[in-house]
Amino acid sequence: MYSNSTTILANKPSIHYMLLLKLIINEKNFWKTFPTLDPRTGEVIAHVAEGDAEDVNRAVSAARKAFDEGPWPKMTAYERSRVLFRFADLIEKHNDEIAALETWDNGKPFEQAAKIEVPMVVRFFRYYAGFADKIHGLTVPADGEYHVQTLHEPIGVAGQIIPWNFPLLMFAWKVAPALACGNTIVLKTAEQTPLSALYAATLLQEAGLPPGVLNVVSGFGPTAGASLASHMDIDKFAFTGSTDTGKKILELAAKSNLKTVTLELGGKSPFIVCEDADVDKAVEMAHFALFFNQGQCCCSGSRTFVHEKVYDEFLEKAKARAERRLVGDPFKGGIEQGPQPHLHFLRFCILNQIDSVQFKKILKYIDYGVKAGAKLETGGERVGTKGFYIKPTVFSDVQDDMPIACEEIFGPVQTILKYKDLNEVIRRANNSRYGLAAGVFTQNIDTANTLARALRVGSVFINCYYIFDAPIPFGGYKMSGIGREKGIYGLSNYLQVKAVVTPLKNPAW
Ligand code: NAD
Repeated sequence: MYSNSTTILANKPSIHYMLLLKLIINEKNFWKTFPTLDPRTGEVIAHVAEGDAEDVNRAVSAARKAFDEGPWPKMTAYERSRVLFRFADLIEKHNDEIAALETWDNGKPFEQAAKIEVPMVVRFFRYYAGFADKIHGLTVPADGEYHVQTLHEPIGVAGQIIPWNFPLLMFAWKVAPALACGNTIVLKTAEQTPLSALYAATLLQEAGLPPGVLNVVSGFGPTAGASLASHMDIDKFAFTGSTDTGKKILELAAKSNLKTVTLELGGKSPFIVCEDADVDKAVEMAHFALFFNQGQCCCSGSRTFVHEKVYDEFLEKAKARAERRLVGDPFKGGIEQGPQPHLHFLRFCILNQIDSVQFKKILKYIDYGVKAGAKLETGGERVGTKGFYIKPTVFSDVQDDMPIACEEIFGPVQTILKYKDLNEVIRRANNSRYGLAAGVFTQNIDTANTLARALRVGSVFINCYYIFDAPIPFGGYKMSGIGREKGIYGLSNYLQVKAVVTPLKNPAW
């Protein structure tokens, strides 16, 4: 069924074109624009409203008014949950249109967006919709003749910034818990992928979200993003993106009003194939852990550690698997890998050329790998001359100190490293400034348990990878972030705890 709609949607940006052009601030429109591009061709999909500091001010005022004057934080929690459930239904109804927007803007395979990501967005909103009327305080057994209770209250106006790799899923991770807790929001999308969040925001209005509760600003990091992070009237900030930008956000928050900040940042996650692993299954899982979503996952298994006993067999099969990977137009059925997303540099370049920071960055890292002495087993170059496709690439003989082994490439480049024993691989896996996730492939429960406890990361996937159901918390150790999103842990990011103390009897003053 979705193949029909795919054909229509893949051609020209006809659907909801006008809606996509505006910033959604208190339901008013603003008209300064920048182009968003189709990474298959470099052609312009649509011109999107560009928010700047003034628009951010307007958006924050709308969110502040909606928080202070209601009705959102003052509505019954049950009413709030009903709005979120209705929104989930609408996303489900428009599944294929939204998936097409994701593919168009980002380049990810349509089947992946339609069958995995948009349904996950629905799941997310239903999960947090169910929490809205189950947010309880505690009664506290304090010393003395006092009744002590805690109230869990919304924090206020949340500022949120999301990246381009999973545009609507990142929107869901941020927006669903914040709304369930009764906050209002100003969210900035990534400049590469502004479309799906604008569309979703219109569906939230249709679901009954009051004006001013969610304000979406499309725009650039150093302008709109920095204005949001340094705004004096934002109470809480949530950011997903690179570690370098995360540091800037933290600094801006500290220099402005000390808003609380949660950060989901970069990673260089180890995927450890143990000596007893079923090699065929390990190859497939390691391939998935790295190449899924064009290799653009913060927690991709981007350091593949393979035990020396199975290294040669693993390498041969991993290379063959990468060579079988189907790269092509992401709207075609069966395609596993589309192009890397890109950005129009009209605003920054006098030559008005189309460029791709991400595409060039990946090719640069491939070059670093070759120059550092790693063995390029397959790939290593672009596919064709049109669009921004990169051949699935595999490096062997990778050493820990090579840039391809310690820096985030964020592309379809697998780096395979050999190890001899468990203590050695634990030490090497932990020897990273990042600590987002890890994969472990073994048939031995003792090995699995040992590694799960020894690895200093926020998520350990044993004989699986990318299991991201809504209740599972996610976040990073070390420079991969601060705080946890998803699950019950994700609620506390959007709640203040107030202690209320009342004497049991009238005090005898
Ligand atoms: P990025 O940090 O450059 O951009 C992410 C967002 O930050 C964009 O919306 C951008 O406009 C904004 N931004 C950029 N500069 C800013 C500034 N000075 N002030 C305020 N906002 C600014 O990251 P990217 O390279 O576009 O995205 C990929 C990165 O995101 C990778 O490092 C990846 O690991 C990370 N990521 C992390 C997670 C996670 O959950 N941990 C999830 C997805 C992506």
